[in-house]
Amino acid sequence: MSFNRPDQLLKLNDPFDICIIGGGATGAGVALDATLRGYKVLLIEKGDFASQTSSKSTKLVHGGVRYLEQAVRNLDWHQFKMVYKALHERKTLLKNAPHLAHPLGLLTPCYTHWERWYYRIGMWLYDKISGSTNLKSSRGLSKKEIQLEFPSIESHHLRGGVLYYDGQLNDARYALAILKEAERLGACILNYARLDSFELGQKSLKIKKVVFTDLRSETQYTIPVKAVVNATGPFTDAVRALANPRLKPRMKVSRGAHIVLPAEFWQGDTALLIPKTDDGRVIFVIPWRGSVLVGTTDDPDTLSENPVILEVEKEYLISYFNRYSAKKASIEDISATFVGQRPLLQVQLDSAMNTDTKSLVRDHEVEVDGRSKLVSIMGGKWTTYRVMASDTLDVLEKEVLRVALKPCLTKDHALIPLASVDLPFGIPEDIAAHLAELYGPAAGEVYAYGADRLISSEPYLTGELMYLKEHEMAETWEDVLARRWGISLRDESLAAKLQATKKEAFAS
Ligand SMILES: Cc1cc2nc3c(=O)[nH]c(=O)nc-3n(C[C@H](O)[C@H](O)[C@H](O)COP(=O)(O)OP(=O)(O)OC[C@H]3O[C@@H](n4cnc5c(N)ncnc54)[C@H](O)[C@@H]3O)c2cc1C
Repeated sequence: MSFNRPDQLLKLNDPFDICIIGGGATGAGVALDATLRGYKVLLIEKGDFASQTSSKSTKLVHGGVRYLEQAVRNLDWHQFKMVYKALHERKTLLKNAPHLAHPLGLLTPCYTHWERWYYRIGMWLYDKISGSTNLKSSRGLSKKEIQLEFPSIESHHLRGGVLYYDGQLNDARYALAILKEAERLGACILNYARLDSFELGQKSLKIKKVVFTDLRSETQYTIPVKAVVNATGPFTDAVRALANPRLKPRMKVSRGAHIVLPAEFWQGDTALLIPKTDDGRVIFVIPWRGSVLVGTTDDPDTLSENPVILEVEKEYLISYFNRYSAKKASIEDISATFVGQRPLLQVQLDSAMNTDTKSLVRDHEVEVDGRSKLVSIMGGKWTTYRVMASDTLDVLEKEVLRVALKPCLTKDHALIPLASVDLPFGIPEDIAAHLAELYGPAAGEVYAYGADRLISSEPYLTGELMYLKEHEMAETWEDVLARRWGISLRDESLAAKLQATKKEAFAS
């Protein structure tokens, strides 16, 4: 069986223990954990995998320096525990898929002596909390050192800075890697499969069956399951309402906009943390796959399938970039934009829904609906997806399946493709780098599908398209451009050129 739709549809004849709704980071994590615990798993995703929040993150594997600051300032133990958990996950996330995640240096510029001390102590604490899982120790830098090592930064009024380390991941492909591994171990994983409703037991009102539509063939399926996990991120409340209309909404979405600039605007491989904007946010300037990612915002929003950046958001991000960058950019320089919606958890059910989203804690919670037994995993961050999955499975085993807890095995489970075919000697460097970056040890296998370039100056190959359909369940051009290759999030004009090649494999 391969990771493609025809093979996965065949598996629908199998009996299932657990159905997971949602194929973002959270659902993917639950699918792998449950499969490793020995359960028969079905995961359905209404769009493409990671097509919502999980491909539109800032791509940081981090504890969150801002959250640590909030925890210390407000003496908030809950917030502190969340930072601790995330910091301790970073190394695991990097270790398990080294071709998709790596350490990232971040420079915090300081403009007063007081700031130098403040951030130096803050980053020291960040290192200390990480303990043995720290990626690399932070260090203070003088103005001269910054000018020498980081010529991209605007050094006017600068007093010094602090360099610290987090991780950076390819979010969409990381989710795919988790899902592929769950599938390889036996799970049935299906994109373009939308949950329509649940069939409940007549007396108990417990979920007995899931009813979903395969959106590619418009076929509806009704599948018996023992337990259901709702991992639909910002869409969580809609699925909770399907299971039990009496449940009160818990989610609040906040929008986070990013702009992308060409590489020439920020040299080197170190990111910049702008620690405090006039409205109390942090903004990152991050070297990202040959481009520069600037983001993000954090404003309350209404739920949307495809949130689009506003002009004011572009202006806001450009104006902050220009304050800190030696090379100034204008709106016309933006090569791409994307907006994600954070699935934030309202802690108090009766609180007004207009809470400031910046102050909502990014922690997660597992809820079991007493009536339907729907298990909803809500909130969280990309960085903590594995812990969220483990907590979900523990609660599900205890409260729904009522079995003894099985151990979580994901911590040391590598997500590296098994296929390891060497790339032939002498292939063009740009193609080799592109294939190794996206496919890791499977690069040679992908290359064997055909070496012709889609566009003469670019490393994307005609043969790759067949591989993506047969082994990565890509169904549309958007799946390829936005998530398998990640081009439309970085360079909209290149995405349009590639799409114009109109390969029939992805006509829609
Ligand atoms: C702007 C922004 C920046 C961020 N940056 C970072 C960061 O740098 N680091 C970090 O750790 N975290 C970050 N986060 C948080 C992180 O991205 C999210 O916590 C995480 O991606 C949420 O994943 P999820 O699977 O819960 O939700 P999603 O990725 O939204 O997945 C839910 C899925 O459920 C599917 N679905 C919904 N309804 C149905 C249905 N009826 N049937 C089938 N499927 C359905 C949706 O299509 C969707 O794909 C950021 C978030 C945002 C918005």
